[in-house]
Amino acid sequence: MNTIPKKNVDLIIPVYNEEEIIKHTHARICAVIDKLPYQFTLYYVNDGSNDRTSTLLNELNDSRINLIELSRNFGHQAALTAGIDASKAEIIISMDGDGQHPPEMLQEMIELVIQGYDIVQTQRIDKYQPSSLKKKTSSLFYKLINKMSNTKIVQGTADFRAMSRQAVDALKEMHEYHGVLRGMIAWTGFSTIILPYQPDERSGGVSKYSLRKMLSLATDAIFSFSLVPLYIGLSFGGLLLFLALAELTYVLSFWIRGETSTLAPGWSSLMFIILIVAGLQMILIGFIGVYIGYIFQEVKRRPVYLVKKD
Ligand code: UDP
Ligand code: MG
Repeated sequence: MNTIPKKNVDLIIPVYNEEEIIKHTHARICAVIDKLPYQFTLYYVNDGSNDRTSTLLNELNDSRINLIELSRNFGHQAALTAGIDASKAEIIISMDGDGQHPPEMLQEMIELVIQGYDIVQTQRIDKYQPSSLKKKTSSLFYKLINKMSNTKIVQGTADFRAMSRQAVDALKEMHEYHGVLRGMIAWTGFSTIILPYQPDERSGGVSKYSLRKMLSLATDAIFSFSLVPLYIGLSFGGLLLFLALAELTYVLSFWIRGETSTLAPGWSSLMFIILIVAGLQMILIGFIGVYIGYIFQEVKRRPVYLVKKD
């Protein structure tokens, strides 16, 4: 009797200094995947840890593990990209290595991809919050990015998601140095389902996302998905030109009323020149900015369009 070959599923798990919990994380994932009827490969991406993470992963001696060692700490997004580039399966799932992304959801995520969704995006629901600072900055980030960009990123959708090969191939076409996967995924526009979940507490250790790393992620997202900051210079320039016009009208009203003697000598011409010159300069810098923005978009080499396979 012919048995149907099991579907391949790749798990991508970036880890940075997770020696306290890596074994526990792996055991918890195994407890789930050992019961599932799929062929799993676990891509652990060691993002330049300087503790025993790598040794412990090697000690696990599990033939399903594929360890990718980055030469230094490149950051979570780069580590995920390394895993995505290495993955070969038809279904690819990225999750954190700190136990916050419950492996118990894997089955449902895989089944949804098999049903035809290209992106199964989990969404953190609000009951658990790491800290109020993280909560506030994260909510501000989503509000800002969704105002400024045409690519909409749903609040609380971090890097715990399942993707079809088609979605991953599209992602691989977008090899961006300042890439932010949750934005790039949303940008592809493939069929998506949002799966709410309640994140667990970190199983141990501390968050590796410092405030600096979070700010850098937010800046990357805003600048890679929006040209709005460029238009700030242009708008300021426009405002200064408007002020120059207002000043001109104001001064003219004195001439019409024959009250020029009440004007301080030299004030009107000086103000006018300052406003006009500053306004024009701002506008010209803004134009240069827009060109740079367009160049930035071109060098990112995002595909102009993506075609659905089925
Ligand atoms: N991580 C990484 N490189 C980094 C920072 C974090 O690979 O520079 C990994 C980390 O080991 C974890 C995941 O990315 O598996 C998410 O990080 P963390 O849990 O510290 O972030 P938080 O959940 O606090 O946002
Ligand atoms: Mg975490």
